[in-house]
Amino acid sequence: MERYDGLELSPRRVEYVKYMAEMGKTLKVSDIAARFSIDPSTVTKALHELEGMGLIIHEPYRGARLSPFGARYSEFLLRRHRILGLVLSHYGLSEDEACREASRFESYVSRYAINTMCRAMGHPTTGICGEITHDEHCRRPVDKYGTVPKVHQEQGRKQGRRA
Ligand SMILES: [Zn+2]
Ligand SMILES: [Zn+2]
Repeated sequence: MERYDGLELSPRRVEYVKYMAEMGKTLKVSDIAARFSIDPSTVTKALHELEGMGLIIHEPYRGARLSPFGARYSEFLLRRHRILGLVLSHYGLSEDEACREASRFESYVSRYAINTMCRAMGHPTTGICGEITHDEHCRRPVDKYGTVPKVHQEQGRKQGRRA
């Protein structure tokens, strides 16, 4: 699922993956259940889904951690959260409000939209709740999957650099 459009996960699943990225280690089902005040069976179900998508590695009795792809995907999730947070804070919300509001709707905003906004904002490096990292996809023209369309690659070669 390397070609992702950013709309794969529900709001709750997004929070789990961002939490796993923030903790940066193998987490037990009970750690995640306690953090979100939910039943461990709910977490187990979610972890199976995330594993099926290739985002995490789940070892029975040890716990779950992000796969290499999951780590890259989580960087996108954090960038999306922080880009939207900056937009909201620019239009009058306090930092706490911007962070909270972005968490409510960010899972519905596509990678294409975030990459386009990221470019329009000049790739900001500091968000209200942490650093913003960028990848080759937000730095170049993108299609709806957030990848560089062939036509741009070819035009780029013929015409030299595109702004
Ligand atoms: Zn935040
Ligand atoms: Zn960027």
